[in-house]
Amino acid sequence: MIVMKFGGTSVADAAAITRTISIVEGKLAQKPVMVVSACSKVTDCLYKIISLIEEKKAEEATQVLEALKARHVGIVTDLNESFVEVGDNDEEITAKIAQICEVINDYILGKAMEACDKALIISSGEYLSSSIIAYAMNMRGIKTNWVDARRMVITDDDYLQAAPLMNQLGAKAKKVVTSSYEGHEAIITQGFIGATEKGLPSLLGRGGSDYSASLIGMAIDADRIEIWTDVDGVRSADPRIVKNTKGLHKLSYEEATEMARFGAKVLHPLTLEPAQQKNIPVYVLNSMNPTNEGTAILCRSCVFDGIKTLSYKENIRVINIYSMKMINTVGFMEKVFTTFADHKVSVDLLSSSEASITVTVEASQDVAGVIADLSKFSDVKVDRDKAQVSIIGKNLIGARGLLAAVFAATIDSKIYMISQDTTYLNLSIVVDRPEMAVVLKKIHQNIFENGNIY
Ligand code: ASP
Ligand code: MG
Repeated sequence: MIVMKFGGTSVADAAAITRTISIVEGKLAQKPVMVVSACSKVTDCLYKIISLIEEKKAEEATQVLEALKARHVGIVTDLNESFVEVGDNDEEITAKIAQICEVINDYILGKAMEACDKALIISSGEYLSSSIIAYAMNMRGIKTNWVDARRMVITDDDYLQAAPLMNQLGAKAKKVVTSSYEGHEAIITQGFIGATEKGLPSLLGRGGSDYSASLIGMAIDADRIEIWTDVDGVRSADPRIVKNTKGLHKLSYEEATEMARFGAKVLHPLTLEPAQQKNIPVYVLNSMNPTNEGTAILCRSCVFDGIKTLSYKENIRVINIYSMKMINTVGFMEKVFTTFADHKVSVDLLSSSEASITVTVEASQDVAGVIADLSKFSDVKVDRDKAQVSIIGKNLIGARGLLAAVFAATIDSKIYMISQDTTYLNLSIVVDRPEMAVVLKKIHQNIFENGNIY
């Protein structure tokens, strides 16, 4: 069996869904388990509906919902017209779309909305897309079973940012997939969504469909996991900022995880962990250009040493924690990091000297409480509007000239922090936010375009 995950742009409209179905059609012999995202931008709309409900703007919420419904009904109509063999036996699917939207409407009309209700509303996007695709596939003659991901992906009770319960998932997903396959040629389920042990709706966090695919892949011992997106695999940098990027044919699980953690949007940061546990190869592929070989993410020993890719975080803060008491004492670090943990603020980069610790955090995190508590036992300074550029690759210490390339690129910039992790997977620098793009381009040039590094 293989897992094939299709992201929002691969199921955005009838044309994208048609392409996606032909890709799956070509792989029926490998027994595909499809995991799909909501059609692109739909999840954003659903979050918007929730905010509008909270702001008591029922009328506007209704408008957004109506537009959402019309978009999905429109996709069915377009599929009926363009996807010749589909036919127009669409009463059932149109009724299903209406029924899903009706559930959301109840909340607009005043039904109480707890966190798990929000999860229910937001998961509608994946329910809608997966139902429409299952309809189209069956009409096309591919016997496809629609499976509710909530029967497989069991999570904790953190409804909107839930963590999967691995022990439950393993047994459940395998059983559900095996039994659902009986009499069918393909299975389709939803990414991003799960259920708690009590059966209440939960979500794996934004972009979580990649993670779902990997979790399900691990649970069913898939032969491979394919992440179908709208770019030709992973590149040496974000092509929206850097011209002349290079495609990467192979990456290790560790490199890809580091890349995703440090800002790259191609994959959800937790995706590779389950796949790596079972050593299942993960392929990042382009549904708009399916013949491109994309990027294979494999075990460490399958990948050569050296720099693979640059990633960045656009808006971070640097927090400097200084205390003379740190010198020759024990337990200062613990106190500092316990404070971060108490406030649930996650730290990215770290560097330290005899009397200070410097860390970076994402700007979206609320650090007021941490700062107040840290200030009780140290001097704290926060630098805002900074950005991080990371160079990622296996065994970076062997990449001769790497630091020369970085420093040559930053001659005109201030570097607020340098951090190299101890497994030599990443080297990161922090610069002023407005300079990030220029620094990124120059480092890319020095490393990948001028051919100085190996
Ligand atoms: N639809 C969800 C989101 O937009 C999950 C995903 O696409 O991976 O975040
Ligand atoms: Mg995604």
